[in-house]
Amino acid sequence: MSESAVVSVVRCSGYQPEKVLPAVRQSIQLLGGFQKFFKPGAKVFIKINHLAAVKPECAVTTHPVFLEAVLHLVKESGVLPVVGDDIEENFTVSGIEDVCRKMNVELVNLKHVKHRQAGNPENRWIRSAAVPEIVCKADCIINLPKLKTHAATLLTNAVKNIYGFFPFATRVNGHRLCPGGAEFSELLVDLYSLVKPHLNIVDAITGMEGEGPMAGKPVNIGLVIAGADAVAVDAVAGEIMGLKPEQVLSTKLSTQRELGTGDIEKIEIKGESIVSVRLKKISLPAPPWYEYIPSNILKKAAGQLRVRPAVIQRKCIGCSDCFSRCPAGAIVMKDKKAVIDYARCLGCLCCQEVCRQKAIRSKRNIVGNIIMKVYFFKRAVTYVLLKLKI
Ligand code: SF4
Ligand code: SF4
Repeated sequence: MSESAVVSVVRCSGYQPEKVLPAVRQSIQLLGGFQKFFKPGAKVFIKINHLAAVKPECAVTTHPVFLEAVLHLVKESGVLPVVGDDIEENFTVSGIEDVCRKMNVELVNLKHVKHRQAGNPENRWIRSAAVPEIVCKADCIINLPKLKTHAATLLTNAVKNIYGFFPFATRVNGHRLCPGGAEFSELLVDLYSLVKPHLNIVDAITGMEGEGPMAGKPVNIGLVIAGADAVAVDAVAGEIMGLKPEQVLSTKLSTQRELGTGDIEKIEIKGESIVSVRLKKISLPAPPWYEYIPSNILKKAAGQLRVRPAVIQRKCIGCSDCFSRCPAGAIVMKDKKAVIDYARCLGCLCCQEVCRQKAIRSKRNIVGNIIMKVYFFKRAVTYVLLKLKI
C-alpha cells in the first residue's frame, strides 16, 4: 500500500464553526498532521472550488466556513497561504472574499496572474497547457473540492477541481476537443498529470446530487474527507456516494496511468469506515443529451466553440516570442510578421499571453459566438433560479 493512499473520513454534521474546525483538524491529524505536507514559512496555495458566484447554501462552491477552518489550521502551522481560483465572476456572493479578508489572507483570481507552460508528452488530448506561476512555485498545493455529481463525469471532486487551474480558453477548448463524458474524463486526467495537489481536503458536509455540478440539489453527506492522493480521495468519495471507482472514469483512468490509487482495496481508510457513512441513495444526473449523438457529429458542432488566435498585422513587430512559445509549431514568421497555421493550432492562446505588443486577439466564428451567447444565457437563468431557491 503506497503511503499516499491513506484517506481520512471524519463526521461533521453542519457548517457551524465549532463543528467544522475540529472535524478538519481531526481529518488532518489522521494523515499525520500538516507537518507532513509543509514546513513553517513554506509557500502554500489553496485551490477552492468556485464554479459560480452563488451563495454557500447552493452547495456549488467550497463553503466559506470550511475554508476558514482550513485557513485557521494552516496559519496555526506557521504559514500564510494564498487562496484562489480562475473565475469569470466574483468571490463576494459565495462569502469567500469576506473570509479571506477576516483571516488576513491574499485571495487571487488566477485569471489575472502570470502563467507558464507545463507539459506531459504522454497525454492524449492536451500535452501542454498554461498553469499559474503562483501554483507552479508553491511548495504545497492544498485542494479544497466540493463533493458533487457531474453531468459529464458523474462525480466532481479532487481530480476534477484541478480543471479550474487552467485558463478559461483551455477549459472551453477542452469541452470542444472532448464533448463526450468518456473523452472528457480522459482529458481531465491529462490535466491532472500536469498539476497534482499535495493534499486534498473535501468539503463533503453538504454536497450535491442530481444535475450537478451547478443545478443539482444540496444533499447532506456530513463528512470531511482528506488525503494526499486525489485519485484515492475520489475513489473513497465515490464509494460513499454509491459509485464504484470503475464507474468514475477519471478515477479508473488515473489508476491505469499510475497517477494515483483508485483501487479501494489498496486504500487505507482512517476514521469512519465507508460502510458506516455510505449514502443510501443519491440521484445521479441524466446522461446529457450529447451522449446520444455520434461523436464525429458532436465534434464538428463543438468545433464551432473553438477560440482561435488572430494576429493583428499592423501591431506585430516580428519579435518571434509567439513563435518560440507555441507548443504546436503552428506559428511561422513571414516577412517579419507572425502567421498562424490553423490546421495545427490547438487554441491554447499561449501566443496571446506572450505577446507584449497586444498583437494577438482571440476570436470565435459566428456560429460559435451564438452558441456561447446561449450558454451564458442558460448560465444566467440557472444563477437566478439558484438565487430564488434560497
Ligand atoms: S509575439 Fe506578438 S509582436 Fe511578437 S511576433 Fe508574435 S504577434 Fe508579433
Ligand atoms: S498558435 Fe497560439 S493558440 Fe495556436 S497552438 Fe500556437 S500558441 Fe496555441
